[in-house]
Amino acid sequence: MSVFRNQWLCFPLTQSLFSKLLPRTYASVLSTRLCPVLCHSVARSTCSSDGARQVVDNMFDSPKVTILKQKMELLGISLENSCLPGQYHNLFCPKCKGGELKERSLSFHIISDGEFAMWRCFRPKCGWAGQVFADDKELYSGVCANAKSQVQIAEESLGLKPLGPKVVAYFRERLISEKTLSRNAVRQLSDNKTVIAFTYKQNGFLVGCKYRTMEKRFWQGKGTDKILYGIDDISHASEIIIVEGEIDKLSLEEAGFQNCVSVPVGAPRKVSSKVLPPIEKDTAYQYLWNCKEYLDKAVHIILATDNDPPGLALAEELARRLGRERCWRVIWPKKDEFSFFKDANEVLKYMGADALKKLIENAEPYANAD
Ligand SMILES: [Zn+2]
Repeated sequence: MSVFRNQWLCFPLTQSLFSKLLPRTYASVLSTRLCPVLCHSVARSTCSSDGARQVVDNMFDSPKVTILKQKMELLGISLENSCLPGQYHNLFCPKCKGGELKERSLSFHIISDGEFAMWRCFRPKCGWAGQVFADDKELYSGVCANAKSQVQIAEESLGLKPLGPKVVAYFRERLISEKTLSRNAVRQLSDNKTVIAFTYKQNGFLVGCKYRTMEKRFWQGKGTDKILYGIDDISHASEIIIVEGEIDKLSLEEAGFQNCVSVPVGAPRKVSSKVLPPIEKDTAYQYLWNCKEYLDKAVHIILATDNDPPGLALAEELARRLGRERCWRVIWPKKDEFSFFKDANEVLKYMGADALKKLIENAEPYANAD
């Protein structure tokens, strides 16, 4: 099990969380192991009259519930329109997807005044639980309002801290703003002011970390999940951009594109001459298969890998796996008489955000390549 997942999976939430926070009657129901049938019968009894129904219907459109909905969506829990405050609902768990039986294993509840929502997956193998509050604070999941967020705890245990002036200046020189760094939760190692930490998150949770020195040496945190960097940014996108490095993803954000992910590891030296291996043996591209459900939703995939032989090989390997017909590629412009721009950050730095935006918009169908 990954070191990152441990941070929240083993958190002693579940019954103690619910019993502390819920009104006595709900707590007693929940302490009987959150049986779905039982939860639904409670839901009905809380809304038995038409009057009560109307109150909760109105609540569904309340600003508090809207905030809760947005926060839940960031965590991968999609609230159906029937999710009314005061009731219990069985939803699909974004962590375990309901296991082999695809059960609606996530017991979900918004308290009746809409102040906060809580949930717990009752599959023993998963047990994911947490809560979010309807305030304007950051996404939150934990045992009580004053506790640190799970992400914060996980970051601290990895020795990460907010960026200091040296790293901020390093990025400023590459035209990456503090706003973009903050939204992408870029951190640095607390005991070494020159090591940048790119945090890998999924559904708002820290699932990995990649480190980079200013001299461009890279390594990955132990237990890091093999996924694309910035995966939460494409969870609702039908057009996505794939780049070859975390800094290129940040560069595209400066050009106005958040619907971008970066591969977590470098490019191959050349295109493999072999036929595609089966998914389970395709180890070098496991990060793609781990993100398959996100990528399957994409209608257009713009490949903006580096403009060098490995970058072009990477684009080809991606297109082979994603399907050439939905892939497009960015044509990097000439830098001078003898050379071309290398990647998104170089274009941002020397040509500016608008030029980078235009290059993305003018990507060519991949099938037309060569
Ligand atoms: Zn689950």
